[in-house]
Amino acid sequence: MRDSNFLKENNAKHMWHPMAHPADMRSNPPKMITGASGVEITDIDGHTTLDAVGGLWNANLGYSVDSIKHAMTEQLMELPYYSAFRGTSNDKAVELSYELMEWFKPEKLVRAFFTSGGSDSVETCLRLARQYHKVRGEGERTKFISLKKGYHGTHFGGASVNGNANFRRNYEPLLPGCFQLPAPWTYRNPFGTDDAQEIANRIIALMEEEIAFQGADTIAAMIMEPVLGAGGVIVPHETFMPMVRDVCDKHGILLIADEVITAFGRTGDVHGSRLWGVAPDMMCTAKAVTNSYFPFGAAMIGEKVAEAFESNKDATGSIGHGYTYSAHPVGCAAALATLAETKKARVWENAKDRGIELQAGLAQLKDKHQIVGDTRGIGLMAAVELVADRDTKAPASKAAVGAAFDGAYEAGVTIRVSGNNIILSPPLVITATDVSRIVDAIDKGLSAAA
Ligand code: PLP
Repeated sequence: MRDSNFLKENNAKHMWHPMAHPADMRSNPPKMITGASGVEITDIDGHTTLDAVGGLWNANLGYSVDSIKHAMTEQLMELPYYSAFRGTSNDKAVELSYELMEWFKPEKLVRAFFTSGGSDSVETCLRLARQYHKVRGEGERTKFISLKKGYHGTHFGGASVNGNANFRRNYEPLLPGCFQLPAPWTYRNPFGTDDAQEIANRIIALMEEEIAFQGADTIAAMIMEPVLGAGGVIVPHETFMPMVRDVCDKHGILLIADEVITAFGRTGDVHGSRLWGVAPDMMCTAKAVTNSYFPFGAAMIGEKVAEAFESNKDATGSIGHGYTYSAHPVGCAAALATLAETKKARVWENAKDRGIELQAGLAQLKDKHQIVGDTRGIGLMAAVELVADRDTKAPASKAAVGAAFDGAYEAGVTIRVSGNNIILSPPLVITATDVSRIVDAIDKGLSAAA
């Protein structure tokens, strides 16, 4: 490996990072991560921290799962690649589509369309939603509904349904016919209440109103995260997603669950839709499907949608969409081994228990530190929202948020900061001791930020 100075210097000179201003790289260089083991990561200066980010919501089982690494290595030796475009397939892809169908059996998600990641899975679901209506002779249904604060990746379709201006503004014009409803957020919302049920009801009323205004027969799908992740870990009232499902059904609108973060145990249930008792028509998955070890995803297709395509005999039912790396055999092998480990350890149960402890610890930090405006989360996804003033809820400064990150890092835990939020998504295999380490390090970070 090149030495630390070479890497830092050339990182700033030659590499652009996702979600970062290139000009910041010199003044605020990234941590150069050189190793990972268990639930910890080590930087080039030899500093080891507990990874409370879990890679990027995706290293659900941590970094030392040999069965996944071996499965990938064996697959590389056997068949490192072959395409799944019409005419060829591979055994691991078939096996994986079977396993995923089993995983999502109660929701009747019966087909898998493989992708290279979350944004691809979102794009796939959006495109197939439009095509679904076309094959049924309702081709004028092209619009999409989503939620403010929702994050759906960065392709043009995903950006168009995104609910955060930062991911939209510089890339406009985006797809026409996309409209966003308010987020089901108790801490900040336009309704003047923090009653989650009331907020859910108000959004559903707006959804009905907007559908009537747009014309139900122009709308293809509603896309939403069961728990909004990147937008600040916003947990809706338990009635919210079921009500969305009902409205969609009433108007012939497909429901796409974007479970890129939540599909494999993160919320403390097997997946996010199951947490709320909802069967979506399609589901976007990626990230933890390979425990982060391979860029991979699966757009899961429900029975109704599958039936519409498969009973259509003309060209409109043919899928004119796909990726060179769709059904990549190494990705499929990684996903098969990940699913086996996920099931064996039933990690969603640990996520639920540790999540309760984490929420309790974060609530104590709110009592202790004025800079904390709100703490929230479910399972092992959590946010600590930092404010300059609790009464006005004005966001904390960038410097304060940066100090919180640095303080926690020094204290042995890597956290993620996004806007004025600390976002936590540790591996689902952490212990109660790890939870205490996370809370203690954030405590120190907050003291540094005050
Ligand atoms: N959808 C959701 C809910 C996500 O959280 C993300 C990424 O964080 C994406 C889509 C995009 O996934 P990717 O970054 O793998 O393209």
